[in-house]
Amino acid sequence: MADAAEVPKVSDCLFCKIVAGEIPADVVRRDERTVAFRDVNPQAPTHVLVVPVEHQPNVAASAAADPAVVADLIGAANEVAAAEGLVSSAAPGTTADADPGYRLVVNTGAGAGQSVFHTHVHLVGGRPLAWPPG
Ligand code: 5GP
Repeated sequence: MADAAEVPKVSDCLFCKIVAGEIPADVVRRDERTVAFRDVNPQAPTHVLVVPVEHQPNVAASAAADPAVVADLIGAANEVAAAEGLVSSAAPGTTADADPGYRLVVNTGAGAGQSVFHTHVHLVGGRPLAWPPG
């Protein structure tokens, strides 16, 4: 968990500014509760961040404040994945060629790699994804 001193105020929050349109981003999906935009430093052919409009510092805080927002984020991410061609009609568990899939990642806390303290889900896909992650 980051020190409180490292957590920006809402007025300083990068993703709040992207949600508000104050900082440009390649937005691929938006509804009243979530915004999805391409990561500025993509780690895969598809790398989209899905964020709630309502600022919370991490997904645990979002879940505590409004559990439905977690379902909103995952639902939005799945819609973006489908739009990116990452959702296969093949039966689950078939080969990687037939069912390339995608990965949702929610880094929670600085020690887990979180660097922006506004809840976000990474949607990553379009290349083979190894497990375990680094
Ligand atoms: P985290 O490390 O917090 O899980 O993920 C934060 C992500 O935000 C990183 O993948 C980083 O590349 C991305 N990011 C940081 N600054 C910007 C920005 O200004 N615009 C966009 N689109 N992505 C950003």
